[in-house]
Amino acid sequence: MQTARKVEHFLEDPNLSAPLRQIAQKVFDKKRITPEEGQLLFEEGELGFVGALANYIREARHGGRTFFNRNFHVEPTNVCLYTCTFCSYSRLIKKREEGWEYSLQEIMDIIKKYDDEPVTEVHIVGGVLPQYDLQFYSDLFRAIKAHRPGLHVKALTPVEYHYIFKKAKVSYEEGMQQMLDAGLDSMPGGGAEIFHPEIRDQIAGGKCSGEQWLRIHEIWHELGRRSNATMLYGHIERFEHRIDHLEQLRALQDKTGGFQTFIPLKFRNQGNQMSHVPESTVVEDLRNYAISRIYLDNFDHIKAYWPMIGRNVAQLSLSFGVDDIDGTIDDTTKIYSMAGSEEQNPALSTRELVNLIRAVGRNPIERDTLYNVVQDFTDHVFEEDEQFKGYMSLPVVNR
Ligand code: SF4
Repeated sequence: MQTARKVEHFLEDPNLSAPLRQIAQKVFDKKRITPEEGQLLFEEGELGFVGALANYIREARHGGRTFFNRNFHVEPTNVCLYTCTFCSYSRLIKKREEGWEYSLQEIMDIIKKYDDEPVTEVHIVGGVLPQYDLQFYSDLFRAIKAHRPGLHVKALTPVEYHYIFKKAKVSYEEGMQQMLDAGLDSMPGGGAEIFHPEIRDQIAGGKCSGEQWLRIHEIWHELGRRSNATMLYGHIERFEHRIDHLEQLRALQDKTGGFQTFIPLKFRNQGNQMSHVPESTVVEDLRNYAISRIYLDNFDHIKAYWPMIGRNVAQLSLSFGVDDIDGTIDDTTKIYSMAGSEEQNPALSTRELVNLIRAVGRNPIERDTLYNVVQDFTDHVFEEDEQFKGYMSLPVVNR
């Protein structure tokens, strides 16, 4: 296998330092790297080196298979009690007239618009407000399930759960059980940002701590359910904070095995309180995907969110450890476009997405939320009139 030969080449490369050669050997032997080695990769690992190692892991796990799914997004509100400094999306309560606050009926009306679409999942996240409480979300999940039982409900992050459980005076355990009973199927990965308090307190002070985020996911996994994880990178954090974050995710995954996918989220600097902070380069974005793939040896999937990084970089990422790419988007989310992401009106048809994946020699596979294969598009021939119309796939975003 060509990717194996590339790694073998590094094992004997005299231009590479002994510690980096040792990391290559570990990857080749399918052994775990330490936090110190992860830090070294961030500090000294050149793009070609970390990319080759990550691609080796990616191809050993998935070959050329590249996953996407069909979903749509509902954001109940963009008004929020919190004031995360990186957030371009939320409107403070004192300016709430600039935002939106949907009622349960309005949310159901949005969901019903997709009744004839071949979507498998609804992804629900938004701001945090008192009226969106435990009762509201229990009623919402029940209403969705009553209307369309087969639609997978992937909803809310520990940021919301921590708030609504505290308000309802229930424990995390009781609260998550109630959500499960109401119809919640899985949890997206948002709200993780950077766990380390030195950074978290500066960019996301007041909302749930890293420890609380992890605990809520742990409880959810103990209930036999799955979730995703994210990391918001490329702002004021240092490499050691990224490694701390990855290490805590890896440790919880060892314990529960409940995470499916890790999604690195690039910090964007428009329309928020951190516009003075420069954004990461494309090289750094690709290095971050690759090192995440190498470090998280117990995560099945690494996902890139194409509207955030652009289509070309998303294609490149498929050679740097990424095996999942978000599907078409019908501009149903504003979370990233409001922060100055590459794609301001993101939309891709299924055909375009499939071609985007095929163009870099990968195999497009449509999946459901739990990574069951829905359709293998590798050799699919699109008919002229075939309507895989802009299904509203939705990004896993940082909220
Ligand atoms: S990131 Fe989330 S919690 Fe923070 S201000 Fe924005 S919407 Fe609110």
